[in-house]
This record gives sequence, C-alpha cells and structure tokens, in this order.
Amino acid sequence: MTSQTSSDCLFCKIVAGEIPGDRVAESERSIAFRDIKPAAPVHVLVVPRRHEPTVGALAAASDVDLADVFRLAAQVADQEGVPDAYRMIVNTGSAAGQTVFHAHVHVLAGVAFTEGRM
Ligand code: IMP
Repeated sequence: MTSQTSSDCLFCKIVAGEIPGDRVAESERSIAFRDIKPAAPVHVLVVPRRHEPTVGALAAASDVDLADVFRLAAQVADQEGVPDAYRMIVNTGSAAGQTVFHAHVHVLAGVAFTEGRM
C-alpha cells in the first residue's frame, strides 16, 4: 500500500522514523508532526506515508490517501483544541512556496485569522 517512497525525501525519512519528527497523530496512511519552524502557535504538517510530490499528484494517485490526509488534519485540529479555528494550507510548486516535495498539508492555528489574507 505505501511502498512508494523516495530515498532522498526528508518527509519519507520522518515517516520511516529514520530522522526524528515531533509526531502528534498518525493513521495507517498518514502521519502528523510539528513543523520545525512554526509560523503559528499550532503548526502541524500532515503527510501521506506514500510519497507523491504534491497534493495534486496525491489526488491523481489515490483518493483514499488524499482523503486520509485531510481527515487526519481535522483530527489534529480537534486534538489541538481548535476544531473551529484553523487553516489548512497547501503550497504547490516552488513559486508558491513549496520547499519539500512530498505532499503535505499545513494545519495552522492560534493566530487571529481576522483578515481575508491569503
Ligand atoms: P512547504 O514550504 O509548504 O514545502 O513546507 C515545508 C515545511 O516543512 C516548512 O514549513 C518547514 O519549516 C518544514 N520542515 C522542514 N524540515 C522539517 C523537519 O525536519 N521537521 C519538521 N518540519 C520541517
């Protein structure tokens, strides 16, 4: 099921436990760990165990894995005590700020999302 990995991928190494990650939740198909450089008091990354470079590629490869990432992201928000006050962000492509090319969703909370900023 999750045999697709990339040997030079940072998040694949965190998934495999080869390098540490501050894990907060996991499922059969996805894991969630705290961002090493948090941009908000709650900043968790949710990644599929399967390696796909972007969320779009993940969507094309597996509906089940895609759904699981978002399900776990919502679970993380519940666990963090912000079930109705969080943002999910997906960066795609370096021009949009993607720096790690293993699909992931940022779960951010704990700041005032009062403006309609992107
Ligand atoms: P991107 O910019 O959307 O690709 O997000 C990648 C995120 O991974 C950034 O917010 C980084 O701070 C985060 N990051 C990079 N290396 C690590 C790590 O080793 N552990 C946890 N988060 C990391």
